[in-house]
Amino acid sequence: MSDINIDNWWLPFTNVRAFQDNPRIFSRAEGCFLYKQDGSEVLDITAGLWCCNVGHGRREIADAVHKQLMTLDYAPPFQFGTPPGFEFAQRITQHTPADINRVFFTNSGSEAVDTALKIAHLYQHARDKGGKQRFISREQGYHGVNVGGTSMQGLPTNRHGFPVLDRVDFLPGMLDISRNAFSRGSPAHGTEEMAAAFENIVAMRGADSICAVIIEPVSGAGGMVPPPQGYLKKVRELCDKHDILLIFDEVITGFGRTGSAFAATEFDVVPDIMTTAKGINGGTVPMGAVLIKDEIQQAIFDAAPNTLPEFFHGNTYAGAPVAAAAGLAAMDIYEQEGLLTCGSGEKGKYWEDALHSLADLPQVIDIRNYGLLGAVSFDPMELPAKSLGPKIHQRCFDNGLLCRAVGDNMVMSPPLSISHQEIDLFISRFRQSVTEVLGQPS
Ligand code: PLP
Repeated sequence: MSDINIDNWWLPFTNVRAFQDNPRIFSRAEGCFLYKQDGSEVLDITAGLWCCNVGHGRREIADAVHKQLMTLDYAPPFQFGTPPGFEFAQRITQHTPADINRVFFTNSGSEAVDTALKIAHLYQHARDKGGKQRFISREQGYHGVNVGGTSMQGLPTNRHGFPVLDRVDFLPGMLDISRNAFSRGSPAHGTEEMAAAFENIVAMRGADSICAVIIEPVSGAGGMVPPPQGYLKKVRELCDKHDILLIFDEVITGFGRTGSAFAATEFDVVPDIMTTAKGINGGTVPMGAVLIKDEIQQAIFDAAPNTLPEFFHGNTYAGAPVAAAAGLAAMDIYEQEGLLTCGSGEKGKYWEDALHSLADLPQVIDIRNYGLLGAVSFDPMELPAKSLGPKIHQRCFDNGLLCRAVGDNMVMSPPLSISHQEIDLFISRFRQSVTEVLGQPS
């Protein structure tokens, strides 16, 4: 039991009453491990919350942050700039598709999403298409918690009861276990259904009313679902056909998660706008960013009066020098250790084979993977749906393993720096935990 007073911090996305009965507190982290207060280790197979991609406790980042704090801790980003902010923006664009060279910093993925939605709106107005005000999102999509992102939420619990924009239509979700079970990488089925739904929305609303489509290239919080083959290229094609902007929400997929620096490169699709955060500086200092095609920024600049800010929008800590310094140090690690592409190489293959070796566990109805992402779906059978996941999650935690439960899906996104031995350790702890909850494989 903890000796910390846990009354005052209202934890996000947490059943606080359950937490108070069973406080789970980490006090230290190193490499791929978090440590509980009693000193026991927990293998972090979620990279924190899909963010600690270079592993925990990286001295290079700590040193860079310390140095930056002592050199220039802060300067206002409204009408002023700092060297680390400019340098980091440039470093990021060395990894984006060729036409995407403009970086607008935020403090989180949620802020990046709402900023992207505003930029999309502004662009349509700039080219005299102000009637384009609707958005298309996707069921099971997650786009953060600000008002714009909440409106784009395809996860009903995160949306209902809040004041949201009502001009949003939803494409069907991508999880289709009945046809795509045990796929490796992109599954075979789903692109045609998405395309038909897309065309239906356009026919119903009119292309002249639709501003942008926002989707996660790989659905993350919706249960880690890779896009079916050809899906993202088809979305791009339909957006072009109907003069609709394409926003990739790369808050999870950015910075190496899929086996390329960004999913846009991995799937060979150039969106108009991308959002990112999480891995941007290895999960160390809050930061997000919107990455924008040159022509979109240019159109907004061309339409704006010369004497005023082109964009009446921004945050106090946007591009903060300390966050940017952490980003530059993380980028050095990403590049020097080959982490941005390791998910599509030998490590990605090892991860895929290891994950699929779990197929014999009881009640497993699907295993899927992409890059260094993975998910195992369970059939709840006699347990009420969505209560098996939390049970397995708790048993994993008790056995020194941190996964994520999304309903009855167990979702994994290890630090990209994970070793083969640590992948093996994950498999053995996961196998042990599931066996303890559901019994031996038959
Ligand atoms: N977009 C996606 C795809 C996400 O997965 C998340 C967070 O998980 C967000 C946006 C919101 O990011 P943040 O929690 O940094 O606000």
